[in-house]
Amino acid sequence: MKNAIEEVLPGTHHRLCAWHLLRNATTNMCSPRFTSKFKDCMLGDYEISVFRNKWQTLVEKFGVEEKEWLNKIYEKYRSWATCYIRGKFFAGFRTTSHCEGLHSLIGKYTKPHYDLSEFIEHFQRMLGHMQFRKFYAEYESARGVPVMQTCIEPLEMCAADTYTREVFFLFRPILIRSGAMRVVDYQTRDNSVIYYVCRYAKLANVWEVEWVDNGNAITCSCMRMESFGISCEHIISVLA
Ligand SMILES: [Zn+2]
Repeated sequence: MKNAIEEVLPGTHHRLCAWHLLRNATTNMCSPRFTSKFKDCMLGDYEISVFRNKWQTLVEKFGVEEKEWLNKIYEKYRSWATCYIRGKFFAGFRTTSHCEGLHSLIGKYTKPHYDLSEFIEHFQRMLGHMQFRKFYAEYESARGVPVMQTCIEPLEMCAADTYTREVFFLFRPILIRSGAMRVVDYQTRDNSVIYYVCRYAKLANVWEVEWVDNGNAITCSCMRMESFGISCEHIISVLA
């Protein structure tokens, strides 16, 4: 599949299914505690240096340096470790079961013995059900105003107005974390400005937020915006 994807869909990133990886980890390593730590390394939203330290600690703690399955899977870290996949947009998909959920829904409405006209009729029923769920989500988004929880209420209110309610609840923790970020330096270039952002002004981790005048675009070196489709706390701290 990996080879086919590279050929047919050039420029895309092949990602391994997190559910299958965890199942294989459980089968091959036979330790629920190992699987739990492995899951943390795989799905944790860490910087690359933190991921490497965690992996080293995991391998040493469980004494699994010689495990063939583990060494083989580590070679493919660019296909499963969240910190190496960052910058690629997957619309929240981490497992094949996300797609299988849609298959299962179609399966509830259609049966193998249906002829074409019956299939279309029942497929339309399924589309109606999905449209109802969309309308209901829109209704929930428009109903009332969530209680503001941050001290930057105008920005929080603007986000509550702009985003759907579900995305707003994903965004609010980021807005809260942006309060811990400080712009410690900046550098002006030809048509852009680079802001250097640290948490509590500690220089251990520095993120670079670049604002490009031409096109009014803003990007961050953490690439969480490209990964999840929502601004990171570093960009918010520059804009706020
Ligand atoms: Zn960032």
